[in-house]
Amino acid sequence: MKSVRLDNVSKMFGTAKGVENVAIDVKPGEFFTFLGPSGCGKTTTLRMIAGFYYPTKGKIFFDNRDVTTLQPNKRNIGMVFQNYALFPHMTVFENIAFGLEVRKLSKSVIKEKVERAQKLVHLDKYGNRKINELSGGQQQRVALARALVIEPDILLLDEPLSNLDAKLREETRLEIKRLQVELGVTTIYVTHDQTEAMTMSDRIMVMKEGVVQQIGSPQEIYNKPANHFVASFIGESNMLEGEVIEISGSMVKVKVDSDLQVEGVLDPSADKPKLEVGKKVKLSIRPEAIFEGQGPNQLHGTIQLVEFTGVSINYLVKVGSATLKVMIINKGNQILSRGDSISLYVPEKGVYFINE
Ligand code: ATP
Repeated sequence: MKSVRLDNVSKMFGTAKGVENVAIDVKPGEFFTFLGPSGCGKTTTLRMIAGFYYPTKGKIFFDNRDVTTLQPNKRNIGMVFQNYALFPHMTVFENIAFGLEVRKLSKSVIKEKVERAQKLVHLDKYGNRKINELSGGQQQRVALARALVIEPDILLLDEPLSNLDAKLREETRLEIKRLQVELGVTTIYVTHDQTEAMTMSDRIMVMKEGVVQQIGSPQEIYNKPANHFVASFIGESNMLEGEVIEISGSMVKVKVDSDLQVEGVLDPSADKPKLEVGKKVKLSIRPEAIFEGQGPNQLHGTIQLVEFTGVSINYLVKVGSATLKVMIINKGNQILSRGDSISLYVPEKGVYFINE
């Protein structure tokens, strides 16, 4: 278990920016995720931690050791890639044993370690199978076993689930998390899938165009998004813009249009935007923060679209000039139809003021 620290690390590819000033401190045993859309710099950052790229600027430390320009094979990291990078004609045992043979361990030690790793990923009966005779999910587990068998200080996972179908992805997600907790290995995980990031991570770093947008626990990122990008990238959100018409203590009243006025409380613990009467402000209301019936921030609208998921009834509701996504938890309530009127309300804490 080691910590991983990036001290204002940047990577340029010629004149093109890969990532800029990434500063993170991953704690020993932590599950830390890089999340963001394609091209935001997740893989570039991971590759610098692995040693495949050297930073243009900044330093990388494992515990107190400066590894910025250390060769990859001297870093004691385990790595799983999106395409697994297994040897297709070799057996499961041979693939997992590969890293140990490079280290010139004795045959009996290798056998013991490989068998333990196979058991860890539930492949104990598959040692003699060739990789090309395995399912995608089994190949994924071989890749994981191969990364873990060397007892790495740090485990790096680059979109390890993206080649699996939805059901298997969910199962494997739980399996990776179980292993990580059991082994306590410091893990850095790259994904563009917010559900993976939210469900597996201790902390998430959200990136956009090579720049860190926010670092925090899943709850912090979801409940207190640092800016417009994070609020819209993580989960569903109704983004509104309006004019501040009243500020009274921490209570702020905003007029979006003549039919839509909302009042919210400025969150003292969040990075708050500067608000002034007469100025514009952006706000976010999550679909699940809107309720059917009578209450604070009373709204009246017309249903445009109905979607039943089993867990919830999702409506698109036109309120004034805005169209709001509304998620009502299904408790057997009556489902309304397109064209019906609906009364909605938003508790003040459901209104979140946002920085640009
Ligand atoms: P994806 O999810 O698509 O893999 P990513 O978030 O991992 O994306 P990176 O692969 O880290 O993104 O790329 C970050 C930026 O650096 C992109 O603009 C990309 O075009 C650029 N880049 C990455 N590798 C190179 C390279 N070898 N040469 C030039 N530019 C590169």
